[in-house]
Amino acid sequence: MTTTDRPDASLRTPATDHQRYEVCVVGGGIAGLCAALSAARHGARTVLIQDRAVLGGNASSEVRMWICGAHGSDHKETGILEELQLENLYRNPGMSYAIWDTVLYEKARYQDNLTLLLSTAVVSLTMADQARIASVRAWHLTRQCWIEVSATLFADCSGDSILRYSGAAFRWGRESTAEFGEAHAPPSADRKTMGNSLLMQLRSCDPQDHVPFIAPEWAEVFGADHPRVAQAQPAGENFWWLEIGGEGDTIRDADAIRDELLRIAYGVWSSIKNHPDGRGHAWQLEWIGMLPGKRENVRYEGDHILTQNDIEECGIFPDLVAHGGWSMDDHHPAAFRHPGAPTIFHPAPSPYGIPYRCLYSRDIDNLFCAGRNISCTHLAMSSTRVMATCATLGQAVGTAAALAIRHAQSPRGILHHHLWELQNTLLDDDQWLPDRQRTLPPQMLGAALTATHGEVQLLSRGCDRRTASGHQAWSGPVGAQITISFPDEVALQRLRLVCDSQLHRAKRMPCSIPRPGHHESLPPCLLRDARIERWDEAGGGWREIACLRSNRRRLVQLALPGRARQVRLTILSTWGDAPCRLFSCEIGLADRREAHRIIDWPATKLAAATPA
Ligand SMILES: Cc1cc2nc3c(=O)[nH]c(=O)nc-3n(C[C@H](O)[C@H](O)[C@H](O)COP(=O)(O)OP(=O)(O)OC[C@H]3O[C@@H](n4cnc5c(N)ncnc54)[C@H](O)[C@@H]3O)c2cc1C
Repeated sequence: MTTTDRPDASLRTPATDHQRYEVCVVGGGIAGLCAALSAARHGARTVLIQDRAVLGGNASSEVRMWICGAHGSDHKETGILEELQLENLYRNPGMSYAIWDTVLYEKARYQDNLTLLLSTAVVSLTMADQARIASVRAWHLTRQCWIEVSATLFADCSGDSILRYSGAAFRWGRESTAEFGEAHAPPSADRKTMGNSLLMQLRSCDPQDHVPFIAPEWAEVFGADHPRVAQAQPAGENFWWLEIGGEGDTIRDADAIRDELLRIAYGVWSSIKNHPDGRGHAWQLEWIGMLPGKRENVRYEGDHILTQNDIEECGIFPDLVAHGGWSMDDHHPAAFRHPGAPTIFHPAPSPYGIPYRCLYSRDIDNLFCAGRNISCTHLAMSSTRVMATCATLGQAVGTAAALAIRHAQSPRGILHHHLWELQNTLLDDDQWLPDRQRTLPPQMLGAALTATHGEVQLLSRGCDRRTASGHQAWSGPVGAQITISFPDEVALQRLRLVCDSQLHRAKRMPCSIPRPGHHESLPPCLLRDARIERWDEAGGGWREIACLRSNRRRLVQLALPGRARQVRLTILSTWGDAPCRLFSCEIGLADRREAHRIIDWPATKLAAATPA
């Protein structure tokens, strides 16, 4: 197009593009991505608005922080996060950040029901009334236009809680010990937070290729005896401790913080690379961030505020929808400038439960939150903020939002009327809710399982991981067969498998650039190819009705046609030479809504804890 093709007015005044959705998710970090995917997958017309050109927030190539979560190999987060990480292992064995960004992008871009708006920053909002958001206004950086998004429900996953402009109640800073009786809180409340950080990525090299690093003239100079420099060893270092800003305002002062972080980061790298003991000779600086990652600022107030005490008591909540398990990792507000330890790791149990009531605003009726901005105290947030936990919070919010649309409920209405459905949907989608058992699909109630190998009864217990009480995976070699037999013919509808993806194996992106030739791989026991057959009464033989090819998911869901009294799964291959391991093998309803039965909900306990 030449300039003359375009009406002059559109060059002088930005156009406004009006769009309407059921669910609007603001912020495409790990929490927002999981929220948007789960809302869309459960049928809500959803938009994900992300101000950067890539998804992932602090986990993206722009910040490069690795994803941490609950301690303990059997306590790892599953659901959408595990799906993302397994897809990344399959597509990105060399662990390139560009490919990781693309894996996240394509999950959102090619998801039915989901519109992805990248490079689009939400800057303001309009209210329908005092307690409801009507729309958000966003600036599209590359299309140079306004986008006005109206929606029924909003989920603020921006980290910085941009939708606080709605007037929603929020908190900033550290609570006093007295407010919630938190033993690790300071005696008086203050506005201090954890700071922002710039990360660096190193690449190992031949020490003979060492060339002294020349720092910019504006970099700070640190002696080899500077406490942080003295402790820093390049191998396995992700430089999270290059952190400042917690004594000021991590939003308003963001530019000044970035400039200071750059001065510190180049100074620190110079001291390490040129260290007299030669520790930096085998390493070179491959990448340094220009976008500081933010740890903490605005947290919404929900119907419950999660505290240190809740976490220490294992978070036993009736409305459990997610879990945490990282220590309370309470960084000193002065961080890099603090002469002592940059953080204190207060122990936290793993797992502990996080209640649904922390995931929506207490006073804005159509506002959810997920990520580092959920309703908790500073101390609780020092644990819940890690990204695997944020992923489970996002998945819970997205699922709740879709249910709220389906049932014409507010976020709080889901708590009162559809909590069981929310929890069971999350379990069915492979989100772990510690101590909660998944309800078996009705088809499985009278079904009998047999197999050529292994203890087959393990496969239909409503438990999808190894547990302390002894639940294990079924295991069988290539060629093994599992048969499900029903007393009468049933509509097959859906095969649901949960594969062992070896939760103890780290699947996150690495802090240093991998060595040439280094390749990550999918777990060797993960089911790769399988054949599914049904018994054909009329023909008197097994008939293939579906097959699985190059599977790399932990949760496998296959639509099956027809009716039968027997279904058989044959393991054709795994991703290595190990036997296949499965936690569940069930036939279920295609539409999981039908599976949710009313159960006896402890309504009195909940009513006492929640405003009407
Ligand atoms: C340096 C550092 C080290 C850390 N170490 C770890 C670690 O080792 N492991 C770990 O798991 N966690 C770690 N954390 C914590 C973790 O990264 C954060 O708590 C987590 O990223 C929060 O997730 P989120 O999705 O809420 O926010 P973010 O990851 O910040 O994502 C929010 C997204 O929303 C976008 N956004 C913001 N405003 C708008 C707007 N107005 N319109 C549209 N989009 C918007 C942002 O650009 C961003 O991409 C660390 C954090 C930092 C900063």
